[in-house]
Amino acid sequence: MITSPDIATTQLLIGGAWRPASDGRTYSDENPATGEPIAHVAEASREDLDAAVRAARTAFDAGKWSGMAPSRRAKILFTMAQLIAKRSEELIAIEVRDNGKAISTAKGELGAIVDCFEFYAGAATKNYGQTLAPPIPTLLASTYREPVGVVGAIVPWNFPLLLTSWKIAPALAAGCTVVLKPAPSTPLTAIELGKIALEAGLPEGVLNIVTGSGRELGQWLVEHPGVDKIAFTGSTATGRIVAATASQSLKRVTLELGGKSPTLVFDDADIDAAVAAAIYGIYYNAGQACEARSRVLVHAPVYDRFVASFVERAKNVRVGDPMDPKTHVGAITLREQFEKIAMYCQSAVDEGATTLLGGQAAHIDGVNAAGMFWQPTAIEADARHRIAREEVFGPVVTFTRFDDEAQAIAFANESDYGLSASVWSRDIGRANRVMRALRSGTVALNSPYAVFPGVPFGGYKSSGYGRELGMETMLQYSETKSVLTYIGEKPMNPFGV
Ligand code: NAD
Repeated sequence: MITSPDIATTQLLIGGAWRPASDGRTYSDENPATGEPIAHVAEASREDLDAAVRAARTAFDAGKWSGMAPSRRAKILFTMAQLIAKRSEELIAIEVRDNGKAISTAKGELGAIVDCFEFYAGAATKNYGQTLAPPIPTLLASTYREPVGVVGAIVPWNFPLLLTSWKIAPALAAGCTVVLKPAPSTPLTAIELGKIALEAGLPEGVLNIVTGSGRELGQWLVEHPGVDKIAFTGSTATGRIVAATASQSLKRVTLELGGKSPTLVFDDADIDAAVAAAIYGIYYNAGQACEARSRVLVHAPVYDRFVASFVERAKNVRVGDPMDPKTHVGAITLREQFEKIAMYCQSAVDEGATTLLGGQAAHIDGVNAAGMFWQPTAIEADARHRIAREEVFGPVVTFTRFDDEAQAIAFANESDYGLSASVWSRDIGRANRVMRALRSGTVALNSPYAVFPGVPFGGYKSSGYGRELGMETMLQYSETKSVLTYIGEKPMNPFGV
């Protein structure tokens, strides 16, 4: 498969075997930090996608995986976790080259990926049904949770292996089979995961991986009659198309979509800690995070102090070579994304918002000039400005001043999105009032971290529906079957005939 020491040609995983695309086509995958090609990636055809769905369907219908004892499924998932941990350095290096993210960020993700597989390995044996109490005492009633079937998993490019693990681990734990479609620009760690799955003993056809044109393959997967459920993470615009398409066949769908998540800082907060968290909250992963805290709303009495401190301390955020362990912010992953960030920063200037920091491309010494880097950017803006309303998906934060609690809540909720929020306050009453009032899937109080296996993650409003990472996620890869058994001595004769 290796054509040169650095440029591999990848294949598709279908029915437990690696193979090139049926028509032999490949496309070039580039390192966004340098612009250099790093892989020739197999470009799956419609025929390949059909074969992958067939393999997943056959494996599911044969009951090889869904009928396996949950404890055995759990062992295979645990083995996958161990193999991921064992190969962590290699996986991190591949992710950094493919995505452009800082290596420190990729390291953190790798730990979370292992945790995710371990969590769902444990969950495989705990996908419990219930015992029910129907009004007729001679009827026993209970529910079983059965796997939903063949899952089409569609993943974006910002956290390629992490978001893959959020879907694959619970789907497999529930007994589903999967066709995984990674983002076209970042497929390499998903392919490594396919190798790990086979090594761990996953039966053939249980996990299939198709790479290629995102829009076509994604659309075919969502339309495909052999697929029972679509687990999608991506933009709200694509999520709407996915939901509309899936509705034609009444496929089950979960959607993890975009965000414009706020941080709310009150005057009684630990301002130093809030500044540090707000800097991390927007510049982590170069701001290419669905839950990026891209709007910082600050109470008027501490607004000037907070903003001055943020801008001063954000100058210490290091943008640079993603492979340098000291780098905080790596490259922007896609050319279109880079241009979108530039467009939004220009729109802020044109609409009269005030740029306090950055707002420009960053030039990194020693890194190929084709690399795409953006300066950590901070802009004073309000809801009139597009930059304060729309998802930029880059290292760009806006600051807005609020006068009181009611206005803070109104500003925070004045968004089409509702994925995540942070609240900074030491007043326990206020903090809890505000957290309850926010229309948001996750709210973190006085913490820069909010996303962990075991803690459900997902959106309100246009941020999607369904939850990942929780125990309840197992329900979203399951169908509930109600089973009733009559235990009376005399036969029932409802019509009395
Ligand atoms: P995108 O919507 O362009 O693509 C997402 C995935 O969908 C990719 O694999 C793509 O190839 C595929 N796709 C494209 N067109 C399709 C179609 N018509 N049918 C089916 N699949 C199709 O999103 P992106 O630019 O890759 O990712 C960034 C977006 O993802 C941001 O909006 C971000 O907020 C969101 N995101 C959300 C979460 C979350 O958990 N809520 C996590 C990460 C990213």
